[in-house]
Amino acid sequence: MEFDLQWLLIGLPIAFGFGWIASRLDIGQWKRAQREAPKAYFQGLNLLLNEQHDKAIDAFIEAVQRDPDTTELHFALGNMFRRRGEFERAVRVHQHLLQRADLGAADRARAQHALAQDFVKAGLLDRADEAYRALEGTGYDIEAKLARLSLAERSRDWRTAAEMAHRLESSGTGSYANRLAHHWCELSLQADDNSDPAGAADALRRARDAAPHAPRPLIIAARRAAQSGDAAAALGLYTELLQHAPALFPLIAADYATVAIQAGQAEAARATVMRRMNEQPSVDLLQAMRLLDGAAPAQAGLPDAGERAQALLHVQPTLSAALAVLDAPLDVHDESALRDVREAVARAARAQQRYRCAACGFEAPQHFWQCPGCLSWDTFPAQRIEEL
Ligand SMILES: [Zn+2]
Repeated sequence: MEFDLQWLLIGLPIAFGFGWIASRLDIGQWKRAQREAPKAYFQGLNLLLNEQHDKAIDAFIEAVQRDPDTTELHFALGNMFRRRGEFERAVRVHQHLLQRADLGAADRARAQHALAQDFVKAGLLDRADEAYRALEGTGYDIEAKLARLSLAERSRDWRTAAEMAHRLESSGTGSYANRLAHHWCELSLQADDNSDPAGAADALRRARDAAPHAPRPLIIAARRAAQSGDAAAALGLYTELLQHAPALFPLIAADYATVAIQAGQAEAARATVMRRMNEQPSVDLLQAMRLLDGAAPAQAGLPDAGERAQALLHVQPTLSAALAVLDAPLDVHDESALRDVREAVARAARAQQRYRCAACGFEAPQHFWQCPGCLSWDTFPAQRIEEL
């Protein structure tokens, strides 16, 4: 009994000593790992700053393997994979992060957001949409909705796009009214293609509710009215458009003239088109004028097509106006008209008479032996652009 006790007295300090040494060894190893992980990390950072991305990734992978708990390094690595187009690896890194039980809510949302971006870049739009949907109610809520809106627009899923625009509008992050009106316009045209007139009319009504002064719903409504034979209603809608978006008039000028003639309002329409012509001359208005002239009873002093074309060409020397003059019966002795045609052709030719560097596309009115844009030698061909 005494003998045993003696051994115990000697053994206890020895065992304690061994334990202490073992613990010191552990701490030493841990400290070494702690020193090495930042070392690999800084190595990676240094390589990154020197634009040596391949080696930087190797260093970061090493650092992550040494210390699998570092979330920041995972994020850095995942983003780098995505930027280099290695989407599969980026997805793996971010999914690995999401699987970790110890990840906080903020980092979880961040990883989910990064994953969604990976899917967008990889062109996997369905999975991207799913990943963004998981971000609802997190700090990335608005960003996710915006991303889902543009994804829906990209895949022409107008119903989802309209829903997203509507929800963004109600969240007070800005006005999505015009975008929403476009979505409903697309849905209306889609319904028309599917021979669903009721659906088309309903979608159009929603488009006009979303943005009452937006031009596109007005134009679609006017075309529908004209098609159904209600020229007066169509004319009213075009007149409304003219009040809110006069600059868009060239797009509908010919339609406007046609419904005005049908509604017996050609005279008033002529005055309107003339007024617009003075503010914003255009061949589209010239064509509308020609339609209205054709419907008017023969009047003394009304300019003919050639004179109208010449008047346009004089204020707007474009090739289209010159073409209109040449298309109209022309008095060959009308020298001022010919002078205007010459001026329009000369103006249009000027852009085509330049020289273009074959290396960088720099354009100049004269030939250069050394390109002022990219400083390459002998990259200007001897031919002008129009001769190429
Ligand atoms: Zn060049």
